[in-house]
Amino acid sequence: MKELIRRAAEDLAAAGNVAALTGAGISVESGIPPFRGKGGLWERFDPMEFAHIDALMRDPVKVWKILVKKMKEPLDRAKPNDGHKGLAKLEAQGKLKTIITQNMDGLHQAAGNTDVIEYHGTFAWQRCMDCHKKYETRKVDISEIPPRCECGGILRPDIIFFDELIPAEAMWRSRQAATDCDLMLVVGTSAVVQPAAMIPVIAKDSGAKIVEINPERTPLTNKISDYLIMGGAGEVLNGIVAALEKI
Ligand code: NAD
Ligand code: ZN
Repeated sequence: MKELIRRAAEDLAAAGNVAALTGAGISVESGIPPFRGKGGLWERFDPMEFAHIDALMRDPVKVWKILVKKMKEPLDRAKPNDGHKGLAKLEAQGKLKTIITQNMDGLHQAAGNTDVIEYHGTFAWQRCMDCHKKYETRKVDISEIPPRCECGGILRPDIIFFDELIPAEAMWRSRQAATDCDLMLVVGTSAVVQPAAMIPVIAKDSGAKIVEINPERTPLTNKISDYLIMGGAGEVLNGIVAALEKI
């Protein structure tokens, strides 16, 4: 692993425009369970029952109960970990430009990154299913489930449920970032959720190096990634930042 960390630092030092694609894995060390991989929510129950748009439409009360337990409570407690902080340091060092994240936890911004594309939306905001008014989640009273808008409509998180479309701006901005970068860090994503999983493919096709950080192999490994640094995001990114400082 040490050898690959040094290689990544050298590749970063040589790169002019770096982007990162992150997934649920980067927030695992902040206490937020991912969907897939070890300890993932899919080991215990089917996220289609709370992460699919049909489930929300059919039974918002049931979905909200799960969202409060599996998202609201862990997110309220979560703080950026060394993985998020490592990416923030890479931006502060003038290396990393844009983060495209599939996460809705806001931890990249909390760590200090300033250009974060929230590809699957954000849990920090709720919106009314009737009038589309938006509310900050921390100001929403969830003692009554489902929470409601002042118009009486049901509030839903401003996130993308399965089978919903990616917001157009997130779509084109991430395509642009993937096309422009000459190195992409792909951190903590199983790379099976589409269309997000296409982002490293677009970067690769545009000539970028792809450096994957994940304790497990993914469909990108060997095909799209130049190399995989097998390990947790915090440890690996700490190592890369330290090695980069010495170059
Ligand atoms: P995923 O759950 O499908 O996969 C998680 C990946 O992280 C796996 O490949 C796993 O091996 C890896 N991983 C586990 N621990 C890690 C660590 N310490 N460091 C680095 N990697 C680690 O995640 P996904 O690809 O992001 O897709 C899941 C979808 O679920 C996304 O759309 C995301 O929006 C959503 N989701 C978000 C959150 C969040 O906001 N934090 C949490 C769960 C799910
Ligand atoms: Zn409303």
